[in-house]
Amino acid sequence: LEFEDFYIKRELMMGIFEAGYEKPSPIQEAAIPVALTGRDILARAKNGTGKTAAYVIPTLERINNKNTKIQALILVPTRELALQTSQVFRTLGKHIGVKVMVTTGGTGLKDDIIRLNEAVHIVVGTPGRILDLASKQVADLSACQTFVMDEADKLLSPEFTPVIEQLLGFHPKDRQVMLFSATFPLVVKSFKDKHMKSPYEINL
Ligand code: AMP
Repeated sequence: LEFEDFYIKRELMMGIFEAGYEKPSPIQEAAIPVALTGRDILARAKNGTGKTAAYVIPTLERINNKNTKIQALILVPTRELALQTSQVFRTLGKHIGVKVMVTTGGTGLKDDIIRLNEAVHIVVGTPGRILDLASKQVADLSACQTFVMDEADKLLSPEFTPVIEQLLGFHPKDRQVMLFSATFPLVVKSFKDKHMKSPYEINL
């Protein structure tokens, strides 16, 4: 399979090409065509498999840059991973004119409020800070059709799980959920049963 076979927009193909990706990795081959249809995805994936681009590419394909509302939320467990992930969005989305924001605890809330006065299409961050912004109506998630959890086994801690569930309440009902996890503990299985609708399961 080639990236061309996904029939994604030209601007996105340019980003993929410039990133130096030649062929989709196995997880990308499995996830991208299904994710592009809007179906929920549940994938077992380790670092180094190309899992980030497996959700970044379908997420970018669905972004409408003329719409200034937040259209995708990416939850990750750490600030470091948030920064790395935002870079993948910026690299692959370079020709789409996509606005990506990183928000995690430990930085001033005021800066986030100022940033959110301008267009933001994609938010990458940790659950607590994003819930704070959504609850205060600083971040509007009412048009946010894509919800991604990366390293879900780390995200779904007793502390974070209720925060994530509250966050889902701010999304539209028909949102797409994509969950990536290295392991599948019970917390991941119960999240799947509670919040995902017939997800396509990838187990490479
Ligand atoms: P990840 O598993 O998402 O952390 O990605 C691991 C590394 O693989 C990153 O440095 C990516 O830039 C790279 N990568 C992802 N997809 C591809 C691809 N299709 N071809 C070549 N490199 C890739």
